[in-house]
Formats: sequence, C-alpha cells, structure tokens
Amino acid sequence: MAFFDELKATAAAIVAPGKGILAADESTGTMGKRLQSIGVENNEENRRQYRQLLFTSGDDMPKFISGVILFDETVYQKTDDGVAFPDLLISRGIIPGIKVDTGVVDLQGTEGETTTQGLDNLTKRCQKYYAAGCRFAKWRCVLKIGQNTPSPLAILENANVLARYATCCQQAGLVPIVEPEILPDGDHTIEKCQLVTEKVLAAVYKALNDHNVYLEGTLLKPNMVTSGQSCPTKATPEQVALATVTALQRTVPPAMPGVVFLSGGQSEEEASVNLNAINKLDAKKPWGLTFSYGRALQASALKAWSGKKENIPAGQAEFLKRAKANGLACVGQYTAGSIPSLASVSSNYVAAHKY
Ligand code: 13P
Repeated sequence: MAFFDELKATAAAIVAPGKGILAADESTGTMGKRLQSIGVENNEENRRQYRQLLFTSGDDMPKFISGVILFDETVYQKTDDGVAFPDLLISRGIIPGIKVDTGVVDLQGTEGETTTQGLDNLTKRCQKYYAAGCRFAKWRCVLKIGQNTPSPLAILENANVLARYATCCQQAGLVPIVEPEILPDGDHTIEKCQLVTEKVLAAVYKALNDHNVYLEGTLLKPNMVTSGQSCPTKATPEQVALATVTALQRTVPPAMPGVVFLSGGQSEEEASVNLNAINKLDAKKPWGLTFSYGRALQASALKAWSGKKENIPAGQAEFLKRAKANGLACVGQYTAGSIPSLASVSSNYVAAHKY
C-alpha cells in the first residue's frame, strides 16, 4: 500500500518518548460550552483567538507535544500574521491531525447507546486534510457501562465503524487514531470497567484485522480503566495502572505502536498522576503509553485566559505546565503535586460527555 512507510513513521513520531497529543478538536458546540464557562461569546474569532493562544505557546510546547488534533474550522483558520494553523504547527515540529467523525446518533432499540457517523466521502475528505498538512485523524466512538450495556450490538457496530474509518484514513495517508471511549458515567467498580474495556478492545482489534487495517500505522485512544464516576470506592493510581495495562495486554497487539489515553473528565492532576503510574508499572508494555488530552490539558489555560488579551501569556503558561507534567508522566517521571496549575485539582467531569 502506497502510504505504509509514511503511516508507520507518523505513528512512531506521535508517540516518541516524552511526548503526546493536545486534543483541540472540540466541535463548535462543545467549544461554546468551554467558552461559556469563562463568559466568552462562542464566535469564530474567539475560537480562533483561543486556539492561537494554545498553538503559539512557548518553546516547551514542541518538547512535550508531538501532535495537535484540530477541528475542521481550525484547519482553515490563520494566526494574526496570516499563517494557516497547520503550517504553524508543522513549522514548530508538531504534527497536525483532524477530527473526522461527525458525532454520535442513537442505535435503535438499545438503552440510549450510540454509533458514530461520518463515513460518507471519508476517503476524499481525508485526502483534502492531507493536502492541508494533516497527517493523522481521530474518530470517537462512545460506549456506556450499565446493567445491560454495552450491548453486543453497540460493541459490534462501533468496532466495525472504527475499522471502516481506519481504512479510509490509511488510503489517504492519515494515521487513524482509533477511539472506543467507554464513559466514566455510573457507579460501577474498576473490575467491571476492566471487563468491559477488554470486551470492547478485543472486538475492535478483531474488526481492524477483518478490514485489513495496517496496525503499525494506527494508534489507540482508549479510556483508562477506572472506577465509575459515582462509585463509592475510588481506585488508586496504582490500581488504575494495573487494571489498564492488564486490559491492554489481553487485547492490543504489540504491532500497534502507541496508546494515547483520553482524560475523560479526570482533573488535570489526576490525569497526570494516573498516566505516570501506568508508565511506572513494572509489566510487559510493548507500546508507547502517552496522552491525548483535551480537558486535562486545557482547563487551567482556559481559566487563566478568560478571554482577555492581557491574559494570553498567563493562559499559555498554564497550558505549558500541564504539557510538561504529562510529558514527564509518559516516561514515568512525574511527581504528584510538583507542577500545580490554576485548575489542576478541579474535576473536568461532564455527564454523557459529547465532543
Ligand atoms: P478529553 O481528554 O477531554 O476526554 O478529550 C479527549 C478527546 O479527544 C476525546 O475524544
């Protein structure tokens, strides 16, 4: 296949030791909620200003951030100096990526379960993003833990749509980030989350194989294995690390180069501490284990900025603190509490989170 070598090199560069991904691909609606939280109007210029703040932050950014996931609008926005955002990132040694799914829709006859849309013309859309400088893509599927969920239908359908998405990306030269997110919503135990994570990941890798996806040119974006948001007993970072790595060992082939965890509503500090514990765990780990965080990289930055021009340096400083903390965590060198930031211990949990 035309792009095999390039796909493999791109995936390896994204999970280079000490680096991870900034997920800045919030849809316009989700960005609206973030801006509303700081009293800023959700218009194109404010979204551009905020993304510019992140992408032009100081020299530490490329040390810890290998890739940034963009939203369609952001791919075509420019800096104040007229440089397209993908070109700016490339000039800083950061790989631009693109969210290509178009959101979730209900699966009929299920208990509120969903599949993810966006396959129409996907290869063509990926070619367009490749021409704009993007080299990887993201597609988020969502599964829920409940009495009767995830159902066999939800597991099968979401695995299959992720595999179809992955082939469209690879045909166009984009590394697909395969994201089957199991939501933290619920009072389930960490053991239940581990069991469900294993079932879901096993189905995903069966589907990727059925669809002839080139695993070396993919990345996985899973949830960490944790106790449910409203579970009375909260698992420790060491328990999260053991359950997460065990679930991955049982289901994810070593040919797949890297796992880039989502933060899923964890606070900034929790997301750093858990990632660090995962990397410190003494166990077989044949993949890079790093971050692809949205909320856990942006909460403090957003708060510090609050939409004010004079606060741009403060917002950038907060973002770089979390980038550094996670850069250290993905090589197991982060000390809990050593990099305090403005919102580091605030929960980022949103019920039934949409992206
Ligand atoms: P969070 O880190 O905020 O969960 O988002 C990451 C992401 O890209 C989800 O698709």
